[in-house]
Amino acid sequence: MRKKYLLAPGPVQAPPEVLAELAKPLIHHRTEQFENIFFQTQSLLKELFMTKLPVITFAASGTGAMEAAVVNFHSEADEVLVIRGGKFGERWGNISEAYKLKVHYIDIKWGSGIKPEEIEKYLNINKNIKSVMIQYVETSTAAMYDIENIAKVVTKTNTLLIVDAISALGVVPLPADDWKIDVIVGGSQKSLMLPPGLSFLWCSQKALSVSEKSNLPKFYFNIKKELKALEKKTTAWTPAISLIGALNTSLTMMKSYGWENLFKKNKKLMTAIHNGLKALNIELFSSSPAVSVTAGAVPQNVDGVKLVKDMKDIHAVTIAGGQDELKGKIFRVGTLGYVDSSDIIVFFAALEACLKSQNYKFNLGAGLSAAEKVLYSEENNA
Ligand SMILES: *Cc1c(COP(=O)(O)O)cnc(C)c1O
Repeated sequence: MRKKYLLAPGPVQAPPEVLAELAKPLIHHRTEQFENIFFQTQSLLKELFMTKLPVITFAASGTGAMEAAVVNFHSEADEVLVIRGGKFGERWGNISEAYKLKVHYIDIKWGSGIKPEEIEKYLNINKNIKSVMIQYVETSTAAMYDIENIAKVVTKTNTLLIVDAISALGVVPLPADDWKIDVIVGGSQKSLMLPPGLSFLWCSQKALSVSEKSNLPKFYFNIKKELKALEKKTTAWTPAISLIGALNTSLTMMKSYGWENLFKKNKKLMTAIHNGLKALNIELFSSSPAVSVTAGAVPQNVDGVKLVKDMKDIHAVTIAGGQDELKGKIFRVGTLGYVDSSDIIVFFAALEACLKSQNYKFNLGAGLSAAEKVLYSEENNA
């Protein structure tokens, strides 16, 4: 018997209330009962996206909604601009290339941010670009991009701004309407405290009118069919009934916690991790750090792969390592969703034990104590 801690940047821990919902007997989806639940999730999703416009729900992992964003807002041989600073930026490119779009890339150093002016300059020179595809949080490097100001430069053009906010929604504010973003993609297994299996797509009026003319092939991921079904409080195809019920529960929990309180809590957890790592002389990998996930740079003479493995095998704390070129070089800890101060304490206690076992030099308890100062200070508990 082992108590496990899932502190990866997705999938995440699900609260007991959500798990209990998933265990309920199935109801039929073409019923008033289901339609009422689905309608409730719709109004909660609108709060999450801070919008008056509808949010589409697909029975697919996050990548499904990313594909939907590619096929609904583009036409054959369209030129698009992908901001590529990690695995998920790469994914925008891979999907676009699969549909034979002409993909331009701005490659940024993994872990760094991008200046809005750089995108502005690129769009000024390349007038044919139909959309800019970017992440809000590039989960693979723990970098966060300045979407608010990027939106300001993209709205000045006819280009659409398409944001993969899968690991940012519910972690940091994302006012879809106010920031004038065109397409936002979300997923269930990050801050929404659910298992994988649902993804979300929101789009602006401007994007909707572009979608009218889109001629890329699509069937399941057809937003026109989904928007029509939404008017009847349902989905076009069989919805993931249990997950929708669980979504209703998780969003209701988030709302009653308070969206602002949630954003504040996430920031506090992030700061505790930052300060704790600093006290251990571990640098942040990203120069533009995200709130949802923190990447620590593995110190010299420490085996990063073993560190992540020991955390799990010895202490039952699951964090993530680096992917591809970052394998062994970083470790990533998520502060998404159902995570609180006690999880951060467990994380640092386990991390310190693993570092000690690799003979890394530091004062035992230094990270823990620095994190505690943030977690339990009066001003942070307001
Ligand atoms: C987790 C995540 C995805 C989701 O991909 P899946 O299809 O759910 O595996 C996409 N983008 C970002 C930024 C993510 O963090």
